[in-house]
Amino acid sequence: MNGTEPGQQTPAWEWREDMALENTLRLPAHASRALILHRLDNETLTQPEVAQWLADPTTRVLGGGSNVVFVCPWLEQTVHLAAAKWWVERHSADRVDLVAEGGMGLDQLVRETAARGWFGLEALAEIPGTVGAAPMQNVGAYGVELGDRVRWVEAWDRNAGCLRHLDRNDCRFGYRSSRFKTQAGRWLILRVGLALSTTPPADWPPTAYPGLEDALAEWQETTGLPAAEMSPLAYAEMITRVRLSKLPDWRSRLPGSAGSFFHNPVVTPSRAQALAERWPGMPQFPVEEGVKIPAGWLIEQADLRGYRDGAVGVSSRHALVLEHYGGSSGEVFARFAEFVRARVRDIFAIDLVVEPECITDRSLAERG
Ligand SMILES: Cc1cc2nc3c(=O)[nH]c(=O)nc-3n(C[C@H](O)[C@H](O)[C@H](O)COP(=O)(O)OP(=O)(O)OC[C@H]3O[C@@H](n4cnc5c(N)ncnc54)[C@H](O)[C@@H]3O)c2cc1C
Repeated sequence: MNGTEPGQQTPAWEWREDMALENTLRLPAHASRALILHRLDNETLTQPEVAQWLADPTTRVLGGGSNVVFVCPWLEQTVHLAAAKWWVERHSADRVDLVAEGGMGLDQLVRETAARGWFGLEALAEIPGTVGAAPMQNVGAYGVELGDRVRWVEAWDRNAGCLRHLDRNDCRFGYRSSRFKTQAGRWLILRVGLALSTTPPADWPPTAYPGLEDALAEWQETTGLPAAEMSPLAYAEMITRVRLSKLPDWRSRLPGSAGSFFHNPVVTPSRAQALAERWPGMPQFPVEEGVKIPAGWLIEQADLRGYRDGAVGVSSRHALVLEHYGGSSGEVFARFAEFVRARVRDIFAIDLVVEPECITDRSLAERG
């Protein structure tokens, strides 16, 4: 059965056997059986075969595959959202409340809303992946996090087998984290309610991050317009140019990457001081939880920027990005990531934490 009702063009859901799993690292991966959800309503999700599939803890939720490492190339069962619409719920003089379905590309949503002159998402341009995955790690870039714009998230609670409407506070957004991430395996995010603005923020256009001042000056020179007249779409395009000068292009086939591969470690102030004495040039940034050290700097000091081992390596443009040049496997890639971690650990006694989710046989068993 595939959930098609008489007279209906697209089925509410469908099954695919032996499905190739797209991922931006371009590692080989397949699902033995995949459930594709075209409709995200209660009626569809409570159909016995759909509900059973979602309740099974071995079913893995996947979006665009831009934050996963398929260490194990075969997954037994997966679920994917194909519903990808957005619409306006309310529109007032200065605010737009919209809803986006989980299967939509986040970058597409950013561009389509920016093109209408709405402010709020433009700094998130060029981040790959789906709207449904974005609240997971509260995606962020250039000083903006998705959680800043979220009104609510609607998700399927796989433990309880019911729809849940979570207000922004219930989502417990933090730096690259959320309730959905800490309760991994429990949620299937279906829809996100966002609040955007029709007027620019006070500091428009924000340029506090490296590369943005120069990019803005270039834009002004080309257009002859004052900075304050930059549209949200022009800002999104500027962010795109700056990002593409530093990061691999996730739309191109190779090299594959998963963006920043390690979290920036946070150490205690006393440990930070000891490290600064030993490594006088070490950049350090005080944060609420301690002192943050850029993981990219540590990798660079370990002399690994641009280092390549066969079909895998560290990007020569950005030491925090590990790359796959094609033809390798998730296992080889994971071993290389472990090699990078070990080098940093040997030199600085700091354990780097991997940002993307590594999908192994064991991680499947753990959820079982
Ligand atoms: C070149 C590049 C640049 C990047 N830049 C940034 C950046 O600037 N900022 C940033 O924050 N991230 C960045 N990322 C990481 C990535 O884009 C985000 O984490 C993105 O949200 C992942 O979306 P996805 O659909 O690809 O998720 P996937 O990789 O498919 O899945 C990631 C995780 O989310 C879960 N998941 C997926 N969909 C759902 C759903 N509907 N409900 C519940 N759980 C779900 C999966 O189970 C998995 O645990 C970058 C990645 C790349 C490759």
